[in-house]
Amino acid sequence: MSADKNILVTSPLIPPLEEFISYLQQIWDKKWITNNGSFHKEFEAALAEYLGVEYISVFTNGTLPLITALQALNIQGEVITTPYSFVATTHAIWWNGLKPVFVDIDPVTCNIDPDKIEEAITDKTTAIMPVHCYGNPCDTEKIKAIADKHGLKVIYDAAHVFGVTENGKSVIEAGDMSALSFHATKVYNTLEGGALVCHDADTKRYIDDLKNFGIHGETEVVAPGINSKMDEVRASYGLLNLKYVDAAIEARRKAAEYYREALRGVPGLRYFEDLPGVRHNYSYFPVFINAAEFGMTRDELYFKMKEYKVYGRRYFYPLISTFETYRNLPSAAPANLPVATRMADEVICLPMHHELTEEMLERVVRAVIMNSRK
Ligand SMILES: *Cc1c(COP(=O)(O)O)cnc(C)c1O
Repeated sequence: MSADKNILVTSPLIPPLEEFISYLQQIWDKKWITNNGSFHKEFEAALAEYLGVEYISVFTNGTLPLITALQALNIQGEVITTPYSFVATTHAIWWNGLKPVFVDIDPVTCNIDPDKIEEAITDKTTAIMPVHCYGNPCDTEKIKAIADKHGLKVIYDAAHVFGVTENGKSVIEAGDMSALSFHATKVYNTLEGGALVCHDADTKRYIDDLKNFGIHGETEVVAPGINSKMDEVRASYGLLNLKYVDAAIEARRKAAEYYREALRGVPGLRYFEDLPGVRHNYSYFPVFINAAEFGMTRDELYFKMKEYKVYGRRYFYPLISTFETYRNLPSAAPANLPVATRMADEVICLPMHHELTEEMLERVVRAVIMNSRK
């Protein structure tokens, strides 16, 4: 057992080096390394095509499109969001000087519970920022109906739904804007990177200005923008990696299938099945541990797995609402967030990436099952 290699929770999708070098050679030859170069243009066009959207702007990471979306839509006051996410979601709201208002989640998807949104709306609410958690699409129609009724904007944190479709339609088409992350730990990466999806040419142009200091043309500055432009090296890497992402998602699907088969019927262990009509990307494989039935707490299992050199991650624990900056907000009270609090205490994301071999999957399952009561 001690000779076994570590099995980490993720492994980045990296394109073949020789192909990347040939792209680098082109950049070196042109001596155009950033500021809307030819790879940047080609990459945005290829992404739009792959993702099935019309207007997309690439960014240096996945947090800046969230921050920029709130700026572009001139969001004020309070923003309703989920505590069950990566901290960047709430930070983006905070960085705009806005007040995050946490709403509890739905245990079936781990997404914001649409039935609890309306009671959190005040006369200061101007937007909703939900997350398609683990790649499970939110109930976008219900959220749209609430937003329309109350005149709110909807900005999706779409960091987990790269390539996910519902009834053949790209999930990132929902809402006023959707922000993607191309971080190394995601299904698809550009080393670091991200993108913002919108619905018309004027808005895309404004977003493109905002990511370049607000500069429009040669002499005009239309707004207090930021610098979040993607350089040619990462745009070329992104372009190349698009060729490999479908095979990576298929490998992840097979891993998810293996886990589901092998873990079926383990008492006190729950996981997601595919949702009807959804093409999933298998960005994560969370399992939820009911300590009484499983015979061990989530944390006991988490540390026990490490003894087998199997490294899960407790995504998303602790809840964002428990961190220093946010814990004194009225909506951060655990009593307001009972489902999110329970899920955060029960979750472990098992290793999930495109390079998991059958032998590795077997070792992960053994590390989980040997510690269950079964
Ligand atoms: C990864 C992630 C982000 C941030 O993306 P970066 O590219 O790392 O800045 C935001 N929200 C969620 C839900 C994420 O998982």
